[in-house]
Amino acid sequence: MKIAILSRNPKLYSTRRLVEAAEARGHEVRVLDALRCYMNISSNKPMLHYRGEDLPTYDAVIPRIGASITFYGTAVLRQLEMMGVYPVNESVAVTRSRDKLRSLQLLSRKGIGMPVTGFANSPDDIPDLIKMVGGAPLVIKLLEGTQGIGVVLAETKKAAESVIEAFLGLNANIMVQEYIKEAGGADIRCFVVGGKVVAAMKRQGAEGEFRSNLHRGGSAQLIKLTPEERRTAVKAAQIMGLNVAGVDILQSKRGPVVMEVNSSPGLEGIEKSTGKNVADMIIQFIEKNAKPHRTRTKGK
Ligand code: ADP
Ligand code: GLU
Repeated sequence: MKIAILSRNPKLYSTRRLVEAAEARGHEVRVLDALRCYMNISSNKPMLHYRGEDLPTYDAVIPRIGASITFYGTAVLRQLEMMGVYPVNESVAVTRSRDKLRSLQLLSRKGIGMPVTGFANSPDDIPDLIKMVGGAPLVIKLLEGTQGIGVVLAETKKAAESVIEAFLGLNANIMVQEYIKEAGGADIRCFVVGGKVVAAMKRQGAEGEFRSNLHRGGSAQLIKLTPEERRTAVKAAQIMGLNVAGVDILQSKRGPVVMEVNSSPGLEGIEKSTGKNVADMIIQFIEKNAKPHRTRTKGK
């Protein structure tokens, strides 16, 4: 098959591994920088140009679209879908997963457990918002943040009020969340491919750090999931309409709660901590499922 990978950097671990895995299975692969793709969207024969060249058609595309280029990246992915290329994750699902509030609203509608979460726009509503989500300690998150940046733990009501006020004063979009203390600074990343959890790791934050992001000095190890955790991860990916997803779960007193569903989950941490060939599983998924014009909006 001919497979395209939308990625800004062919040297990234995840991109390299996908190329390797595809070639090992006899496929032709090309890494395309989404920002260098351009198109005439009014043409009745959808096509894509790349650095002056009219791109041939592909059987499948693996989108690895960074958060900072979501808008343009998903437009390029949509164009490939219009050309009949099978997307591992559809543009609609990628866009959906990038909006944290929309994602949590969709998950909650289907009964997925999550930390009690609220959001507001006006500073006047902060005291009641804090009360509504159960009071301090609280986690306050910038909606545009990634890799744990913009995630703050406020231990007291006073601290929570001033942090929220400061963020809203900067016109930042935030959400306010119940602090799941019993998670002990750890979370679980479940890697879902085609409706199955194919690998899972537990990430533990550095000493004294409640955020478990590897970028913040956390460490990862293999974990065996409970059936409930497994079911939650699979269902969350399905609700988002993602075939490949990284579902982040906290172990709370009331069972697994979902924090986030990532549509371009990294391969390095999960492959290194579990020893599994996740890239190969993604390629195998494509082999089984790629059909021309098989784009549907599968989110629920
Ligand atoms: P990002 O998308 O920037 O990684 P997250 O929402 O995943 O932000 O938060 C970063 C980390 O902070 C998580 O991996 C988790 O360890 C911790 N964390 C986030 N939300 C909560 C919460 N409600 N309760 C306890 N810990 C949390
Ligand atoms: N299928 C979902 C719905 O109809 C998708 C909504 C969304 O992605 O926001 O609500």
